[in-house]
Amino acid sequence: MRTPLFAANWKMFKTVQEAFAYTREFRVLVEKIEGVDIVVAPPFTALHTVCEAARNSNVAVAAQTLYWENEGAYTGEVSGRMIREAGADYAIVGHSERRRYFGETDRTVNRRTVAAFAHELTPIVCIGETLEEREGEQTLVVLDRQLRDGLDGLTAEQVGTLVVAYEPVWAIGTGRNATPQQAGEAHAHIRGRLKQWFGAGAAEACRILYGGSVKPDNVADLRRQPDVDGALVGGASLDPRTFFDIVKRGKLS
Ligand code: PEP
Repeated sequence: MRTPLFAANWKMFKTVQEAFAYTREFRVLVEKIEGVDIVVAPPFTALHTVCEAARNSNVAVAAQTLYWENEGAYTGEVSGRMIREAGADYAIVGHSERRRYFGETDRTVNRRTVAAFAHELTPIVCIGETLEEREGEQTLVVLDRQLRDGLDGLTAEQVGTLVVAYEPVWAIGTGRNATPQQAGEAHAHIRGRLKQWFGAGAAEACRILYGGSVKPDNVADLRRQPDVDGALVGGASLDPRTFFDIVKRGKLS
């Protein structure tokens, strides 16, 4: 059985002080929760502080992206090595905001994913179609391309440990979430492709999260879909009590 996972993407929100206060409060809220993995992804400025504040708790930490070189003349970038040393265990890769505003492509997603593994960070690889692509009945074609190119060259063992986040772009930050049925169909398709390309073991082990306007009152219905293993939560994760509510309700058992 796959352990459900809930990840909070704080995007470009929270100063160091705010991130510290959140983590102190949140770690106490989730202290007694078992059978679920919980991750928060602060902005880079607060990464180390949050790692320290979350030490010896149920809360793991993710970077929101990473660069594939270890160090060098790459102004503004942060490497997997630096992130790992700061104390993080995960890295989000290929979020649609990075694809849309910062020129991320399937090729760079692949390089970042490979780099995450090189530094013992679990990648959370984001894929998802735009509204135009959904309306043009291109959803599965887009998911196939993003998945195939993003995971190119990985071993079955690696694919079994990574996390895929299915995030339809039209549902991110819009308040319009995919219906459980839409999410279920996309997740089943993704798992089917993982099985075809990397084998049944990898496909069964890989956790596939849904992301896009997840809230306390829709998370349980989404999670009841057999291939929805958790959620990547943006806006609703910015308040520790709301994110805690999502974890509690989304855990199901
Ligand atoms: C996200 O940022 O990954 C996300 C899903 O955002 P929101 O929950 O706000 O739609």
